Amino acid sequence: MNKRANVVIIGGGISGCAIAYNLAKKGVKDVIVIEKDYICSGSTGRCGAGVRMQWGTEMNCRLAKYSIEFFERANEELEYEYDIEFKQGGYLIVASTEKEETQFKKNLELQHSLGIPSKYLTPKEAKEIVKHMDESKIRCATFCPKDGHLNPFHATQAYANAAKRLGVEIMTYTTVTGIKVENGAVVGVETSKGFISTPMVVNAAGGYSKAIGDMAGVDIPLYPERHQILVTEPVAQMQGPMFMSFSLNIYCQQTPHGSFIMGRGDANEPKDFNINSSWSFLEEMAKTCCELLPPLRKLNIVRQWAGLYEITPDRQPIYCESSEVKGFFIACGFSGHGFMFAPVTGVVMSEIILGEPTSLPVEKLHKDRFLRGEEVYEPSVV
Ligand code: FAD
Repeated sequence: MNKRANVVIIGGGISGCAIAYNLAKKGVKDVIVIEKDYICSGSTGRCGAGVRMQWGTEMNCRLAKYSIEFFERANEELEYEYDIEFKQGGYLIVASTEKEETQFKKNLELQHSLGIPSKYLTPKEAKEIVKHMDESKIRCATFCPKDGHLNPFHATQAYANAAKRLGVEIMTYTTVTGIKVENGAVVGVETSKGFISTPMVVNAAGGYSKAIGDMAGVDIPLYPERHQILVTEPVAQMQGPMFMSFSLNIYCQQTPHGSFIMGRGDANEPKDFNINSSWSFLEEMAKTCCELLPPLRKLNIVRQWAGLYEITPDRQPIYCESSEVKGFFIACGFSGHGFMFAPVTGVVMSEIILGEPTSLPVEKLHKDRFLRGEEVYEPSVV
């Protein structure tokens, strides 16, 4: 194979597919997405697929609000033949400490100034929303009814199908093995199926983005970290919203077919590519969750899995063209919230690639912020 493309996108997760769709929608021809396995085989197909507007920085609130408004109309815009299953049951985020409560009050003020319909709840009011919680364990909570959950496989496939209809080629089971750079600019991509000459490459390789950067001689400050999820047997509907605690590092939701899905971060995870499941996660996850939601003790766990977070020093994404290599674009480092930002990722990356002003202010997310000491810290992450 010897091909040429205007843009090669590395990674068939939701970011790569959303970027491909937006480029094609803007009329860009000869866009190729390269995926080493199948669509959704990376973090996207392993994620909790929760989406929330309740953030603690103006930028993240705006990015998330934009994305959620897109997901509300995605079936129509992407002309998806099935359903992305977007359920807006809300997020109930609980505070256990005084420090968290103070931060939540600041978050609410910010969110309200941006038109986000979140609200403060006393423990008693929170229990009215999640009736099986032990409200004695919390100080307060916030709730936003627009937050929710969708099916990550359908959402990504919807983007991929729409991109294909607009002429994008998606090459699965094809691995990028090298990036050819001449005179400081991208000229092509080496793959397991041959060379593709192209002036533009987009690195949307999730947990593997650092290795892709290295192929182009561009250092991307991020590392992979395992995050795990467990699933229970399905039971009758008893919990509408996502239940989340930042200080306990957990989230728990009931899916439309009745299973509970829950996950947590572990501060002691090594920085590597291990995505095996562990017994210690099962124990800790079950213990922490059942203290707050006691009736879940009765449920049987049916399976568990793991995936990679791709973590940057400030746990915020990188959206930019590299300053070192012309034509090398970066869309990675989502640090656990790349699924919900995908609609924004698709739009702003297509604008950055075409040299257009971005629809949302994302210039602070340039990779060079780490060299300048201008990290963007977000107080409300799991
Ligand atoms: P990925 O989905 O990882 O896609 C990258 C693709 O690149 C992969 O398919 C990989 O196979 C491919 N690739 C890599 N190297 C090569 C190569 N050399 N050649 C070709 N292809 C290559 N986010 C949220 O917003 N909400 C959540 O509730 C949420 N929960 C999460 C729970 C868990 C357990 C995990 C692990 C993540 C969670 N996330 C969540 C984060 C979210 O999954 C990611 O931020 C998002 O899916 C990133 O999408 P992506 O397309 O950038 O990367």
